[in-house]
Amino acid sequence: MLIPTGSSRSLPNPNPCLSYWQRTTRAYPHLSANIDAEVPSESKYVIVGSGISGGLTAFQLLEGGAKPEEIVILEAREAASGASSRNAGHVRPDAFRGFSAYRKIHGDEQALKIIKDERRVLQKVDEFVKRHNVECDFNLTTTFDVCMTPEFATYEAESLAAFKKAGGDASHVKFYEGEQAQQVTRVPRAVAAYEWPAGSSHPAKLAQFLLQTVISKGAKLFTFCPATKIEANAASPGRWDVHTPRGTIAAEKIIHCTNAHAALLLPQLDACIRPNRAQAHSLIPVPAFSGEKALQKTFSLRYSLHHFYSLIQRKGDGTLVLGVSRSNPRMSPETIKSILSTDDSRYNEEIAQDALQSFGEMFPEYGSHTAAHGEGLDHVWTGIIAMTTDSVPFVGAIDSLPGQYICAGFNGHGMARIFTCAPAVAQLVLGKTWDETGLPECFQFSNERLSRLSGGDLPSIW
Ligand SMILES: Cc1cc2nc3c(=O)[nH]c(=O)nc-3n(C[C@H](O)[C@H](O)[C@H](O)COP(=O)(O)OP(=O)(O)OC[C@H]3O[C@@H](n4cnc5c(N)ncnc54)[C@H](O)[C@@H]3O)c2cc1C
Repeated sequence: MLIPTGSSRSLPNPNPCLSYWQRTTRAYPHLSANIDAEVPSESKYVIVGSGISGGLTAFQLLEGGAKPEEIVILEAREAASGASSRNAGHVRPDAFRGFSAYRKIHGDEQALKIIKDERRVLQKVDEFVKRHNVECDFNLTTTFDVCMTPEFATYEAESLAAFKKAGGDASHVKFYEGEQAQQVTRVPRAVAAYEWPAGSSHPAKLAQFLLQTVISKGAKLFTFCPATKIEANAASPGRWDVHTPRGTIAAEKIIHCTNAHAALLLPQLDACIRPNRAQAHSLIPVPAFSGEKALQKTFSLRYSLHHFYSLIQRKGDGTLVLGVSRSNPRMSPETIKSILSTDDSRYNEEIAQDALQSFGEMFPEYGSHTAAHGEGLDHVWTGIIAMTTDSVPFVGAIDSLPGQYICAGFNGHGMARIFTCAPAVAQLVLGKTWDETGLPECFQFSNERLSRLSGGDLPSIW
């Protein structure tokens, strides 16, 4: 069968490039866990995908009383080699900006819940990292949403007003205008800026910690071992056969944590989850951003809703990580088209040039300096994000396939969502109800949602 380009009905590309995060964790001992081993013939739980969703789901299943020897994690490539180890390092809840867009799709009540949930995620990541002493360079700080045009400043102001009017809490958001915005952000062309709590982390170290912990307790990770097909077990009703190139596992519960590739095993999601290639860049700072001059806050620098740049500066090595929006008016149609891809083996030169040029324009202190050998652009990488047609993830039981669950579709924003979604899916697997998860109802997987989404294209807000 011919799978259309950019479809999520594909396995991850077998020859991915390495991200900055992967290049700095090559000695992680479980990168190729069980690479040659046959899979067991049965396992109570099979988690497909070893990113932060899969790792945290396994972690939470164990916390909830599941036995480690009953958990198998299947990973198509090396451990945690999907978006979780390829992102731009931001753990950045939306404070209000998305409200206007979410309300159009989901209504006021759900839009408020979505934004509240993201705030809860930041707290949960912070608590988790502290409680478990996770060495993932998590840096709890604040973030600036910098409006680079008057039009976008108006959009943000309207979104904030609508958010507050609907009852949203923005007491943690600070606002700066004109010169004050330029001064606090170091961005001379800033029109306005908002500031609220956010963080950054080394996402690969976080994903690897989760896997390390569950493996040390007895769960089994099989890398380079894709799940290629799932079908009902003929001999034992209620169980599922998970096919892999290294054997078939009969499972009671399957949790799909496959993000952009979810529709390979769940073809009904093909029209609702779409893979998009995203790109990030690491830069070694020039003196204007080194030592005491390193940026203490994180940034989203926005020209419009769909044209923006994200920026963090790591505390330890001072590396700047610059993310870019999926499209912008400066990109050629060929480049914009190339984003509809599951190929994370290479990067796009035009996007890299735009990112560097824009960075220099937004931060002239950087652009005006001639980089010494060793300073400047260090590395460029790509990863595949999972866009859903209603901009929120799919979480929960797949009622038409009893025993199967999903936690996927994070719209390039998983670090601000997974820490409530994966624990919720683990709770559901262990018998709790949706209401007990506390998640916004619009995240819940349902056939009714699927048929609504399959009917057409809803605007994506990222
Ligand atoms: C360049 C880039 C920048 C980003 N920046 C940010 C950011 O700054 N902040 C933020 O919040 N989010 C960001 N994201 C998004 C974020 O990384 C994702 O939302 C998050 O990592 C999703 O985690 P996951 O575990 O659901 O998916 P993944 O990490 O993609 O894990 C899914 C795993 O499933 C495996 N898999 C898929 N199909 C199969 C199969 N059939 N069998 C076995 N294994 C399979 C894949 O190989 C993969 O390892 C960014 C993403 C990219 C690519």
